[in-house]
Amino acid sequence: MSDYVVAPPVIAAVPIKGSRQMFPVRRIFCVGRNYAEHAIEMGSDPTREPPFYFAKPADALVVNDADMPYPPASKSLHHEMELVVAIGSAGADISVGDALEHVWGYCAGLDMTRRDLQNEAKKTGRPWDMGKGFDHSAPMGALVPAKGVDPSKGKIELKVNGRVTQTSDLSKLIWSVPEVISNLSHLVRLAPGDLIMTGTPEGVAAVQRGDLLDGFVEGVGTVTTRIV
Ligand code: MN
Repeated sequence: MSDYVVAPPVIAAVPIKGSRQMFPVRRIFCVGRNYAEHAIEMGSDPTREPPFYFAKPADALVVNDADMPYPPASKSLHHEMELVVAIGSAGADISVGDALEHVWGYCAGLDMTRRDLQNEAKKTGRPWDMGKGFDHSAPMGALVPAKGVDPSKGKIELKVNGRVTQTSDLSKLIWSVPEVISNLSHLVRLAPGDLIMTGTPEGVAAVQRGDLLDGFVEGVGTVTTRIV
């Protein structure tokens, strides 16, 4: 018998490559505008802005190459291909030098965005939540352990229906993975199970029902989903 008055939520989790074990997800933090060319395409100045964050609920995850339902209330669903960092040990006020010791692993992910709702929120000074944190908005591939992954470089690419739409390199992150972890840990205490989506390169665009999204981060892995 449980003391909960309704059924407790299922723990969201990301599969681990080559294993039956899973990574339980606590929170999903996302970095805004972390590649210069994407900041420019969104109308921002990439040179002066410190990192900023928004979040998605853990149950926005879509894993195991499952389909992503086209969300309600939007006519402009955009893809944002990103490297995702999985935090394995807790910490606050983490130094840049210690940051990578807190990483359990990495995966490829998509920060799916209702761009029309986000743009309206920007215009009116309202929160981004309904543009970013909606159901099924975080497709992710399998995690690989941090050992052997160098998050300072490597190709990041997204194909839509076989055609490359986003292509860049992790070396072009304005704020590197250790810098993001350190900076974020000065705002919240990071905990095991936290995921950090590190930002998207240029080339974001709208997708339609039926489109197949196939993303890749060199040395990390893939993320695949079909919009239905
Ligand atoms: Mn993003």
